Amino acid sequence: MSLALIVHGGAWDIPDDEVAPHLAGCRRALAAGWEALTNGRSALDAVEIAVRIMEDDPTFDAGVGSVLNRDGLVELDAAIMDGATLRSGAVAAVRGIRNPISLARRVLESEAALLVGRGAERFADTVGIERCADEDMIVPRERARWEELRRLAAYRTPDAFQRPPGEVAGLRGIVAGGDHAPDHPGLRIQHPGDTVGAVALDRYGNLAAAVSTGGTPFKLPGRVGDTPLIGAGLYADVQTGGCASTGWGESIIKVLLAKTATDFLGAGYAPVEAARAAIERLEQRVHGLGGVILIDVRGRVGYAFNTPRMAYAYRVEGGAEVAGV
Ligand code: ASP
Repeated sequence: MSLALIVHGGAWDIPDDEVAPHLAGCRRALAAGWEALTNGRSALDAVEIAVRIMEDDPTFDAGVGSVLNRDGLVELDAAIMDGATLRSGAVAAVRGIRNPISLARRVLESEAALLVGRGAERFADTVGIERCADEDMIVPRERARWEELRRLAAYRTPDAFQRPPGEVAGLRGIVAGGDHAPDHPGLRIQHPGDTVGAVALDRYGNLAAAVSTGGTPFKLPGRVGDTPLIGAGLYADVQTGGCASTGWGESIIKVLLAKTATDFLGAGYAPVEAARAAIERLEQRVHGLGGVILIDVRGRVGYAFNTPRMAYAYRVEGGAEVAGV
């Protein structure tokens, strides 16, 4: 069975001076996940390893370096799904966990599918996952962003990231790839969306997907987006394919973006076309902005986004690493 791995580091208007760290972070995650796959480890292991690396990288809105909620705290969501059994594990609104993806993996191995808040934190204690102080999760860049957002009394995150319906005709297009070079639309989005995700196919023919996020900047405490929700933030099924989503969660939830994308794979679309069709659905049905990464059961890769940029990196067996924004 041919190996494949794709990772992303969020879809938004990544500023020019942040492109290099985003690419470097995606490449590091890809390299570690790829090494695991080539050493015969499972797709589940590979996506967990890749996402952990991006959680540890303060560039991304996942793990340390995540955006802060309205209380000035980091609250994290993560999920992982096994395409062979359709088992999944997710955690939502957890604090003081450096690698929520590994906690999600332990949930997958437990009797539950989704644990939230204090229950998830207590579960971490029972499975030996170390907790840290809230302050240990916060980086100065995000503290400064939070101070700024606090000053903007009228700041409303969903409206800031979703286009009004009348503006859809002005779109410059969806970027889709996997087989060909992307072209870039020009929307300006000032709000970071550095959620991370990974999808892998291992040599045993299994697919897995994993995602992790700090959510949206200045979110309501307790707000949970698409990321830990199966079918919205991620999906993996050996009968169709695997997908990880990124973008504004309130829109992604409405169209079950990851399940929509893998359903397109199941209907016979090539990954690049399935990715494009899923983002078209997000855009046309709910005027949402975001991106998806996909792998089908043959190990073909696709991605699409309708934000100005999405950081990604991928590799398929026999091919070289591809990375871009
Ligand atoms: N999907 C994430 C959320 O809404 C944000 C992101 O992908 O950047 O929580």
